[in-house]
Amino acid sequence: MFKKLLVANRGTIAIRIIRACRELGISTVAIYSTADKEALHVRMADESVCIGPPAAEDSYLNIPSILSAGLTYGADAVHPGYGFLSENGDFAEACQRSGLQFVGPRARHIRLMGDKPRARRIMKRAGVPVLPGSEGKGVTEVRDALADGERLGFPVLIKAAAGGGGKGMRIAHDAKELERLFPIARGESEAAFSSRTMYLEKYLERARHVEFQILADSHRSVVHLGERDCSIQRRHQKVIEESPCPVLTARMREKMGKAAVRAAEVVGYSNVGTVEFLLGPDNEFYFIEMNTRIQVEHGVTEMVTSTDLVKESIRMAMGEALGFKQRNVEFRGASIEFRVYAEDPVRNIPSPGLVSNHHPPGGLGVRVETALYDGYRVPVHYDPLVAKLIVHAETRELALARARAALREYVIDGIKTNIPLHLKILHDPDFIRGDFSTSFLTRYQPETHANAERTAADSRAT
Ligand code: ADP
Repeated sequence: MFKKLLVANRGTIAIRIIRACRELGISTVAIYSTADKEALHVRMADESVCIGPPAAEDSYLNIPSILSAGLTYGADAVHPGYGFLSENGDFAEACQRSGLQFVGPRARHIRLMGDKPRARRIMKRAGVPVLPGSEGKGVTEVRDALADGERLGFPVLIKAAAGGGGKGMRIAHDAKELERLFPIARGESEAAFSSRTMYLEKYLERARHVEFQILADSHRSVVHLGERDCSIQRRHQKVIEESPCPVLTARMREKMGKAAVRAAEVVGYSNVGTVEFLLGPDNEFYFIEMNTRIQVEHGVTEMVTSTDLVKESIRMAMGEALGFKQRNVEFRGASIEFRVYAEDPVRNIPSPGLVSNHHPPGGLGVRVETALYDGYRVPVHYDPLVAKLIVHAETRELALARARAALREYVIDGIKTNIPLHLKILHDPDFIRGDFSTSFLTRYQPETHANAERTAADSRAT
């Protein structure tokens, strides 16, 4: 049993981890940058350490500082949360080497899945469907990209081999556009991931993003906890997520769930993970990537399966076996998450600043995960996700009604948020019917089109 866990993150996920630890009787060490001195996760943890100045490279991404904090404070485990170092194989390895148990998969699985062309190859070999795309290790030069584009047929999606957070992604509708956009996407990948390696994938139109939650213990037992539909996105970033997917039949759930479990099994994966698929209008599905960490949207799965995924991740890191089998997984009702961003929804730029009044909604089936409080100043330096509103009800229709009521009740004064946009979406007949694809949001925010110029809001990592 762990006695003390270092929470290598900030914001809502740091608080989520601290809560799970409290229930498990594990004490917590928070880390913070000088910009986060007043942050809620620091107040909630049993102990806290300042690990550097505001810039993430100097603090939340600073491996030596984080490790020395863990060792100095006598932690025996590290939970990376999402974003920051959560998908950094070197960090996982450095933790293990320092005698700190990393709450997550093994370093080699993080590296394997972080190399997307390689993950595609492995999945294809294992019989998990992938979209036609670049073969081998990916492409770095425009001429090779053009050859792939001609072979695949347009439109194609240019993606970064080391990608994440939608960075380095561009749609090309013809060879000319590919020639123009490829260097831009590659430049973005170099800046974000220090990698020039890209790959192309056939662009699937009118697709839904449907991902499966996986739990894999270190005794080779793997189960899935159903799916999340995360099609409401802008610039390839999720904004609303729900479980179950409103259009998935029980047969498709079984088929895709089996493929997701197979994806984890073929590599010998352990801990929590998410296998992401695109689901086409013809009901064909394709693997796009596996995220080797807890997801932002894990809460909707928790609500419909009554499972605490963060506690499970900690237990599995302690070597415990999963206490249940696939046949024991039961799904109840519908759950939807709304990501609340501190941003100006019209201009699409972050809106940090002082929160003069914070009144979160409550009541049956309403869950708010937030690091906000009255008088808190949202710093400019990090991801603008400030709250997640998660509703749960017996049916999707009831969950939508609950969400409308809860979002209307939610008061966040002092900063701008995207709550008004959520309310608009909640009145959209197509959204209400469950009839949408990943391009849905372009009707509300035309600038969300994949090739729109990036804004400062693109700093988010998950
Ligand atoms: P990242 O890791 O940067 O988030 P993903 O590969 O997970 O990138 O893709 C993010 C989103 O981009 C998906 O949810 C989907 O909306 C869109 N996308 C990715 N690949 C394709 C594709 N081949 N065709 C159409 N849309 C895609």
